[in-house]
Amino acid sequence: MDIGHDPVDWHAVSADQALQALGSTRQGLGATEAAERLAAHGPNRLPAPPPPSRLRRLALQFHNLLIYILLIAGVLTLALGHLIDAGVIFGVVVINALIGYVQEGKAEDAMAAIRAMLSPHATVLRDGHYAELDAADIVVGDLVLLQAGDRVPADVRLLSAHRLRIDESALTGESVPVDKQSEATPEQSVLAERHSMAYSGTLVVNGQGLGLVAATGSDTEIGRINILLAGVETLTTPLLKQIAGFSRTLTGLILGLAVFTVAVGVGLRGESIQDMFLAAVALAVAAIPEGLPAIITITLAIGVRRMAARNVIIRRLPAVETLGAVSVVCTDKTGTLTRNEMTVVDAATAIDRYAFGGVGYAPFGGIERLDDSIAGSAVQPDEAPDLMELLRGGLLCNDGDIAQQEQEWVAIGDPMDAALVALARKGGLDPAYEREAWPRADVVPFESQRQFMATLHRDHAGHAFVVLKGAPERILDRCNSQRAHGQAIELEADKWHTLLDSLAAQGQRVLAVAYKALETSPETLELDELESGFSLLGLLGFIDPPREEASAAVAAAQSAGIRVKMITGDHAATAAAIGASLGLSDASRVLTGPEIDGLDVAQLRQAVHDSGVIARAAPEHKLRLIEALQAEGQTVAMTGDGVNDAPALKRADVGVAMGRKGTEAAKEAAEIVVTDDNFASIIAGVEEGRTAYDNIRKAILFILPTNGAEALVIIAAILSGTWLPITPVQILWINMITAVTLALALAFEPPETAVMRRRPRAPHSPLLSRFLLWRIALVSLLLLAAVDFVFFWLLQQGADIDTARTAAVNMLVLGEASYLLNARYLSAATTNRNGLFGNRWALLAIALVLFFQLLLTYAPPMQLLFSTAPLNAGTWLLLLAFAVALYGLIEVEKMVVRRRSKG
Ligand code: ADP
Ligand code: MG
Repeated sequence: MDIGHDPVDWHAVSADQALQALGSTRQGLGATEAAERLAAHGPNRLPAPPPPSRLRRLALQFHNLLIYILLIAGVLTLALGHLIDAGVIFGVVVINALIGYVQEGKAEDAMAAIRAMLSPHATVLRDGHYAELDAADIVVGDLVLLQAGDRVPADVRLLSAHRLRIDESALTGESVPVDKQSEATPEQSVLAERHSMAYSGTLVVNGQGLGLVAATGSDTEIGRINILLAGVETLTTPLLKQIAGFSRTLTGLILGLAVFTVAVGVGLRGESIQDMFLAAVALAVAAIPEGLPAIITITLAIGVRRMAARNVIIRRLPAVETLGAVSVVCTDKTGTLTRNEMTVVDAATAIDRYAFGGVGYAPFGGIERLDDSIAGSAVQPDEAPDLMELLRGGLLCNDGDIAQQEQEWVAIGDPMDAALVALARKGGLDPAYEREAWPRADVVPFESQRQFMATLHRDHAGHAFVVLKGAPERILDRCNSQRAHGQAIELEADKWHTLLDSLAAQGQRVLAVAYKALETSPETLELDELESGFSLLGLLGFIDPPREEASAAVAAAQSAGIRVKMITGDHAATAAAIGASLGLSDASRVLTGPEIDGLDVAQLRQAVHDSGVIARAAPEHKLRLIEALQAEGQTVAMTGDGVNDAPALKRADVGVAMGRKGTEAAKEAAEIVVTDDNFASIIAGVEEGRTAYDNIRKAILFILPTNGAEALVIIAAILSGTWLPITPVQILWINMITAVTLALALAFEPPETAVMRRRPRAPHSPLLSRFLLWRIALVSLLLLAAVDFVFFWLLQQGADIDTARTAAVNMLVLGEASYLLNARYLSAATTNRNGLFGNRWALLAIALVLFFQLLLTYAPPMQLLFSTAPLNAGTWLLLLAFAVALYGLIEVEKMVVRRRSKG
C-alpha cells in the first residue's frame, strides 16, 4: 500500500477506517515501523526557501553611499593619472566588500543555526506511550496529541476531539477559529468545512484532540499550496537604523565640507584644482567611519551567540538591545523560579491527615497518618479507605503519567498530574486497572482561567460520575458535602479553609478533589454540570522546590536595579511564602487576580508598583500588568508559555517564551526563548544585552576619534596651506586597519564587572550621549596634536616628506592602538591587570597592527603603494612615548569624570 500518497478524502471516512487504511492502531505505531516509514518517506518538513544568491549578497556590499563616493573618487583619481592611488582606492573598496561579505555571512549563519534550535516538537503516541518528538520525525500513521497552543505538525484525521478549536488562518486566511470533531464529514466538503481534519501549520487555540497523521511534509495541504517557511529576517535593529541615519548625516556633512575646502583652496589660496581635489577626496575618506556598520552588526551577532550559550535564543534581533534596558521582569513562578517538579507531601480527608514519604516522581514511599504524636504512624492503604478515594479521584481526573528513564522517574505531561499518579501508586493503585475500570467519557482540561479540571467517567454498569480537581477556593464553592466513611456528610467549609491557609503558608500548592455521581449517563460533560452538587474527597499539598540558581538570580536582578514580579496561579499565601524564600523584595505584598479585576488603571499602577507577588493570576491579568508598568515608563520583560499568554508576550518590551514547556503559539509571539525555562537565564540574557550595548558604544567611542583626527588633520592642512601630513591612500589604510582589526576586538569584550551593579539604561537615551561626544572630541584633538607635532617637527629636522608622513601615519595608528586599551572600559580605570590584559583579542589586535605597520613602513611594495619610507629608532621612540602619554591622559580624564559623577 502506498501510504499517504493516494488522494484519499480522509475527512470522509470513519476514524477506524482511516486507522486501518493507514496501517495504525489506537496505540500508535511501533518504533520500528515508524523508523521504516521515516526512512521510506523522508522527514516531515517543508522545503526551505532558497538562500539569497552569493553573487547578489556580494553585490549588495557595494550598494552603499560611501562606497559610491569612494568609487567616484577612484575613477577621478585615475582620470588625473594617479594610477597607484586609484589602484589603492579600488583595492580598499574590494577588500572592504569582501570583509563585509564574509562577516555578514558568518553573522547570518550564526542566526540561522540559532533559529534551528527552535525546531518544533510534537507529542506522539507510539506503542501506547506518549513521547515528545521532533516534528520532523513524524510519519504517516502516527498519532499526535493536539493541545491548546500547538501548531498542528502534519495533516491529521482526528480520532478524538474535546472542545478542539483551531485557527486555520495560515491555510485559509479565515481567522475565526473552527470547531473540530471526529465524525466523518461529507465527501464533497471544502477544506474549511472538513471538521474531522486538522491541517499542518494551523494553530490549536482551545481544547484537546488526538489526530492520526494522514500526510506529512510537502504532501500536506500547506505543502501543496507551497507556502514557504518564513523568510530570513534581516539583521537590523533600532540601533543599527539610528547609526545608519547618523552615518548618512555625517556623509552629507563631509561632502559639504569637502566642497567648501576645495572652494577655499582654489578660490582664496589659488591652489591647483587637482591638488584640492585630492585633498577633498582625502577629507571624504577620512571622515567617514566605513567600518562602523560592520562592527555593530558583528557585535550584535556576537551578543546573540553569547546569549545562546547561556540558553537565551533571540527570535527578533532588536531584543538584544532591549534586554539590556529591561527594568522590570515579570516572571512565572512555576517552572521558571521553581523546578516544576511536584511531589505530594500532605493530604487531608474529612477523617484524617496524612503525610507521604519518597522522592520526586518515584512511585514508592511510606504513608503516615498524622495524629497528635510528632512522628505519626505508618498506615497500610487498606486501612484508609477515605485516602484511597481521594487518591483514586486524583488518578482518574488526570492527563499525566510517570515513566522510568535511565533509573530516574520522570513526569510525562502535567507535573501535578504526574505527581498524582506517583501518589496513587504509593497507595497501591494500578493506573491501568483503574482507568480500565472507570473509562473516561469526556474531559474539561485544566485551564488557568478556570483553575480546575474535570472528567466524566462511566463504569461498565453504566453509572456515570464526574471527578473535579483544582484550586480549593474553586472546588469548595461547588461542594455541598464531604465524603466520610463512604457517605456524604455536611461540608465543614471553615475547617477546610483553615487547613488550606496553613498548608499554603508553608509554601505548599494545594489542590482539592471532589466527586459527583450523576443520575443520567451523558456522553459529554457540560460546563453547567460542574457548577454545584459535588462532594469533597479532600485536599492535597504539593511541594515544588525552587531552582538552585533562582535566589542568586533574583538577588542579581535586584542589585542591577531590576524589579522582579512573580506571577502565579497559586494561592496568595503559597505565593508569598515562596517569594519570601527566594528573597524577592515586596514578597509580602501580594496582589491577586480578582483584586486586579476590581482596580481601575490608576489604582492598578500603584498596586503593581508596590507588590512583588501576583497570585491567583490568569493570563489576561498579565496584559493589564504590562500596561500598568509601561504606563509608568518601565521596560518590561514578561514570561509566558500558553496560547493565552501570546497577547501579553507580544505587548511586553521583551516577551520571553519558555523553550521546554512553552507552546508554539507562545514562542511565535515572543522576542526571546529561554531553552531551559530558567529565570536565571533571563537575567543572564539581561547581562549579555547590557554588555552588547556597552560594546557597541565602546566601538563607536573607539572608531569615531580616528575619523575625527584624520578630518581635523586634513582641514588644518588645507586651511593653513601646508602639506597634507597624511595622504588619502594612507588614510584608507588607517581606516581599514583600525576599523577592522582594532575595533573588532571590542566586539569580544567580556561584561564589565560592574555591568550588573548599574541601574538599567533609560530606554530612549541617545546613543551619542554628551559624555560620548566630549570623549570623541577630546581624543580627536589629542590625536591631531600628536600627528601634527610629529609631522612638522620631522620636517623641521630636515626629514623628507615621505618620512614625515610615514611617521604621522604611525603616530595615528599607535595612538589608536593605545587608545584601544582606554576604550575597553567606558569610565572605569584600565590601569590594572584586567584592564590591560583582560581581553586577549585586544592584545592580539594590537600585535597584529604593529606587524602591519612594520610592513607598511619597511616592505618595498608597500613603500611603493603608500609612498612610505623607513623611520629611525629615535622617531619610533618618540611615537611610542606619545602613544603612552595619550593612554595616560585619557585615564586621567576618566578619573576626573568618575570623581565628578560621584560628587
Ligand atoms: P502557575 O501559573 O503557578 O503554574 P496555575 O494557573 O497552573 O499556576 O495553577 C493554579 C492553581 O490551579 C494551582 O494552585 C492548583 O490549585 C490548580 N491546578 C494547577 N494545575 C492543575 C491541574 N492540572 N488540574 C487541576 N488543577 C490544577
Ligand atoms: Mg501551571
